[in-house]
Amino acid sequence: YDSPNLFVIAHELGHGAFNLRHTFSPESFIAAERTTQNLMDYAGGTELWAHQWELIRDPQSVWFAWAQDESEGEASANKEYFITIDGVKALKIKIEDLKKEFNITRLLSNEELQNYPYKTIQVYILDSDKNDFKVSSLYVKNGENKGVTSEIVWGIKNEKEKDILFKARSVEKESLPMYFTSDASTYPVFNVEIIRVSPNIAYKQGGSVNRVIREDPRTFNIINEIGFSGEKVSLRPIFLTYSELNNKLLDFSTLFSRNEQCSYLVKNIKFGEKQYDSLLTLDWVEYSLIEDKTVYEIGIGEKVVKGVIKSVKDLPYITVIRSKENEETGYYVEDYYSTALGGSVTNPSLRDQNNSMKTDGFDVLGMAYKIPIIHYKNLRNVKLLLADIPRSESPSPLQYKINEQTIELGKEFTIQTPPNGTILDIKDTYGSIKGKVEFRQINESLLTPVLNIVTINTDEVGVSHSAVINDINAIYNTMNVSWKEGNHIMLKLEGALRLKNDIDLKLILDALRNHQNYRANQYYMIIWPNEDGFGGFAAPSLKDNWFITQKTYDKRIPAHELGHCSGLDEFVVNIGLIPASRRGESSDQRLQHMTTNIMGYSNQELSDANPLMDFYSWQITLVRQQISIRINTVQ
Ligand SMILES: [Zn+2]
Ligand SMILES: [Zn+2]
Repeated sequence: YDSPNLFVIAHELGHGAFNLRHTFSPESFIAAERTTQNLMDYAGGTELWAHQWELIRDPQSVWFAWAQDESEGEASANKEYFITIDGVKALKIKIEDLKKEFNITRLLSNEELQNYPYKTIQVYILDSDKNDFKVSSLYVKNGENKGVTSEIVWGIKNEKEKDILFKARSVEKESLPMYFTSDASTYPVFNVEIIRVSPNIAYKQGGSVNRVIREDPRTFNIINEIGFSGEKVSLRPIFLTYSELNNKLLDFSTLFSRNEQCSYLVKNIKFGEKQYDSLLTLDWVEYSLIEDKTVYEIGIGEKVVKGVIKSVKDLPYITVIRSKENEETGYYVEDYYSTALGGSVTNPSLRDQNNSMKTDGFDVLGMAYKIPIIHYKNLRNVKLLLADIPRSESPSPLQYKINEQTIELGKEFTIQTPPNGTILDIKDTYGSIKGKVEFRQINESLLTPVLNIVTINTDEVGVSHSAVINDINAIYNTMNVSWKEGNHIMLKLEGALRLKNDIDLKLILDALRNHQNYRANQYYMIIWPNEDGFGGFAAPSLKDNWFITQKTYDKRIPAHELGHCSGLDEFVVNIGLIPASRRGESSDQRLQHMTTNIMGYSNQELSDANPLMDFYSWQITLVRQQISIRINTVQ
């Protein structure tokens, strides 16, 4: 009754939408602005952005024929050279560097030239829906445009300008060799990369650096509002490529180093009513958070990129969860609110019946705050993610404190497990308690059930028995259950063996139970012979000693199915969202995919898969009890 394949389909539909959204054209920013229209009275439409490039064109940079009016040694003349894109001065270049490079390359043989590591210059242009650009150069003397730089050409035919075409919206970079000409001979000099970027806003506070304009991973909406606790925040423009927009940014210093080359895109910077001269710096500027809301604007031609900077005085209540990246074992993170149902469930809930979560002090979502629990066997460091209630996927970087450690909303922190039973307060920057976390040690006796592997009409397992046992134990050892490697049993069966067909399943189970090595006090992982990709399933009774898995090994499956063998239902059934009679619909329940609980759904091949690593207090008792009953079963 698991059907992870349904999940895959649902997810990939979302993924399709994701890709569409991920073109991240500047229209995304427009959309973001519309959503905050009341704040910023933005009145434009997408056509503004479509023509943005023309608006920021330098009107003086008119094309005209090269007319060299300088004589060598005219030292007092102020000479400047630029690479231009569509006639706009995009990058200032040092002609001396070109000449120097030219003097090196002209002495090389053809063969040497082929292996010569050409220097690369990056020219950043504004990302837009446009795919074709004209690349050329400009010579400026004493502030006066003199036309194309005579030495710079874009091919051996001495072309003064060159059309480049980005093959698709998603292509972020095109390369073009730039040549240097002198009389009859032309030599390659530099490789010019034309890179499309979108403006964004970076922030820095308390050692944390990230961007303001981001995507909500759940709704795919662009968010340009952000809240900060504390009194000051540093902001600066940042320019991101298509792929950088879609990824977690790690190396900000490299990204900031391109600001200089992107400064030509920026006309002005404003924070609230105050204008900041962008020509001076695109570096960090520290701003005071005086108003509840202040708009930070980067002027790009006639358009602006806006971030709404909020000063947050009333910080949200928080919980701790396991992050998607955290596959550490040795502890369980039991959280209530990442899958909370607003305090009311309509069906019998194992969670509520056996809830051993403590409550304390204050109300959240109309009920007493439920303290998350960290279950562990041995003292150790644990990695926790601070999440708000209700949970947002792109929370503001608000700061809290646990003990003396400053922790940030939406980020992971590491903490050493204190002695059993300790409850720690999590306070906001103003000293109010906004959450707690309990540390509970598991001191149960050791249980050692045996897991056998069963294959049908083949001895091919596809994974080593010990690897399966290791993966299961990585999770079960925390509750002091240590699985042992049993036998490999091969069954020979006739017939079609249709998946989830009761008659065929009975055939398999009868053959297994009649096998000489079958023991009723052991467990059996049966690898389905001819169908794949369905995940796994166990007996609906939730107390049998076998489960079926797909042919391709997925380490998330056995731990989950053994949970079913030990009395656990799907997560959404056990928390009371749907009755057990409708457990087949669990695939459709979002909460089933949101949890990191073992009994949730995930698929390790999906990039946004949850690590299913956690058992909760209301499951641990039941699982251990059922395993005890099974291993003491009389043969
Ligand atoms: Zn299941
Ligand atoms: Zn995806």
